[in-house]
Amino acid sequence: MGDICRWSPERIRQAIRASNKQAVIATQKYVLLENSAIRTDYEFIACPCDESCWCKRHKCTGHYRIRKMSFDQFLQTYVNLWIPPKARENIKNAVRFGTPFNGRQRNAVKPLKWLSANWIDVLTRVRSYNKCGLCDSSFPAVGDVTNLYQAKMWSQLLYDSVVPFDTKSKAQIKQAGYSDPTKDFRAMNSELFGDLRKLSENAGMGVDSIRNLDCPWVVATSLEKPSGGQPLSRVLDKVFYAP
Ligand SMILES: [Zn+2]
Ligand SMILES: [Zn+2]
Ligand SMILES: [Zn+2]
Repeated sequence: MGDICRWSPERIRQAIRASNKQAVIATQKYVLLENSAIRTDYEFIACPCDESCWCKRHKCTGHYRIRKMSFDQFLQTYVNLWIPPKARENIKNAVRFGTPFNGRQRNAVKPLKWLSANWIDVLTRVRSYNKCGLCDSSFPAVGDVTNLYQAKMWSQLLYDSVVPFDTKSKAQIKQAGYSDPTKDFRAMNSELFGDLRKLSENAGMGVDSIRNLDCPWVVATSLEKPSGGQPLSRVLDKVFYAP
């Protein structure tokens, strides 16, 4: 058991708000691009689970699913979400044309090239998975996830079920009592979601209220709240992530 389920919802809300506040002033404008990606790249499907499922029993109304799209659109959103502005074109050129790139984010290139070669298969697989992280931790990522750029890629593919990490958030995640994501990414994910379920039970919060722990439109008033609320991976990520 890690720390999250012992925190009050207010403490979680504050940690997330601090992360969003920093993101609004950081050069990457992460929360703004995240908000538009939720609207353009995802659909909110009605919760398909039956009455015995944890999420359904906790007022879950639906899950986010990535839309049918081209790999190029996915790649554009990937660089918008996870890569600093100066390196975005370089990463895209390295993935699409094999242009050499030796910047700090070079480890993003290999997993993205792999995804490009397997795009239709992977998209079909993740779209046929209709659970969320709160009710199922067997998300269909292929192979081991050890590098943070791979983790970001799978989180983007399964926005409601897979929590990404970076160097700084990994240290925070470990300090809070969770598995090292570079050693066991699935364990970290299932522990985090397990504790989010406990938090929800202890506080009597339904899935909608859990999604609303992250509300970036409060700190950036130009943002619109997406109809389904925030994807669940955003909530967990931002407890630990500082831009
Ligand atoms: Zn559900
Ligand atoms: Zn469910
Ligand atoms: Zn669910």
